[in-house]
Amino acid sequence: MNYRHVYHAGNFADVLKHAVLARLVTYMQGKDKAFRVLDTHAGIGLYDLSGIEAQKTGEWLDGIGRLLAGDLPADVADILAPYLKVVQELNPQGGLTYYPGSPKLARMLFRPQDRLSAMELHPDDYETLHRLFDGDFQSRITHLDGWLSLGAHLPPKEKRGIVLVDPPFEIEGEYERLVDGLEKAVRRFPGGVYCLWYPLKKGAPIAQFHAALKASGIPKMLCAELSVKSDRETTGLTGSGLIVVNPPFTLKAELDVLLPFLKARLAQDRFASSRSFWLAGENKAS
Ligand code: SAM
Repeated sequence: MNYRHVYHAGNFADVLKHAVLARLVTYMQGKDKAFRVLDTHAGIGLYDLSGIEAQKTGEWLDGIGRLLAGDLPADVADILAPYLKVVQELNPQGGLTYYPGSPKLARMLFRPQDRLSAMELHPDDYETLHRLFDGDFQSRITHLDGWLSLGAHLPPKEKRGIVLVDPPFEIEGEYERLVDGLEKAVRRFPGGVYCLWYPLKKGAPIAQFHAALKASGIPKMLCAELSVKSDRETTGLTGSGLIVVNPPFTLKAELDVLLPFLKARLAQDRFASSRSFWLAGENKAS
C-alpha cells in the first residue's frame, strides 16, 4: 500500500468529490430520521496543507486553493455552501491550513442522530484516523478492508445511508472491482445512496466501466465527470468521475450548474471538460 492521500488532499478531484458528498449529506437531512455514512476507503480524515507532504506536491493549490481564490456566483455558492462551511470552520483564523477528508467532512455536517462508519486499511493512516475520532460516539473507525464492509456493514441499522467508495486505484482491476462491489452492496441495501469515485487518465477504460455499470441493471445512476487538462502529455490524473446511485432528485440540476463552473475555475489547459448524465434511469438527455 503505497498510496497516501495526504499528498493529494484538496486537489481538483477532492473538490468535486467532497462538494457532492456534502450535498448528499445535506439532502439526507431533509428528513429527521437518522442515517449512516459508510466510508469504505476513508484516509486520515484531516489534512494539514502546510505540512511537508501536501507542500511537496502542492496539488491543493489547483483544487481548493483555486476554488477559494475568487468570488463565487450566487447559485454556485448555494450548492457549495455545506462543503465550504466545513472548510471555513476548520480554518477559523481565515486562510487555508486544514482540509477535511471525507469522514471528517460528513461528520462535521452531522446532526446528533447521524452516524459514521469509516474503514481504513493502511495501518498508520488507520491509527491517525482512529485518534481523530477518539471518544466520538457517533463515529466508528475500523481497521478493515473497505471492500469487505460492503458486505459486512450493509444494510446499516438506520436503514438510510450514504456509501462512499473511494479506492486509491493503485492496483489493476479497480474499475471492475468497483462494479462488483457496487452490485454486491446494492443487492444487500438497494435503497442506499452510493457515491463511487474513479480516475480519468490516458487509457482509462471508462467506456467499458460505464457499460458494465449499465449491464448491472441498477436502476438509477447519475454520472459526473470533470477533466482539468488534456491527457496527451501525461499518464497521471487528468480528471475524475463520480457515479451516484439513487441520487437526490435535485443533484442533476445542481451538477449542471456546478460542473461548468468548476471546469472554468479549475481548468489547467484549454482541453478541460465536464459532463453529467444519467447512466440509468431518468433518461433525460444531458
Ligand atoms: N475518501 C478519502 C477522502 O475523500 O478524504 C480519501 C481516500 S484515499 C483516495 C484512499 C484510501 O484508501 C487511502 O487512505 C488508502 O490507505 C485506503 N485503502 C487502500 N486500500 C484499502 C482497502 N482495501 N480498504 C480500506 N482502505 C483502503
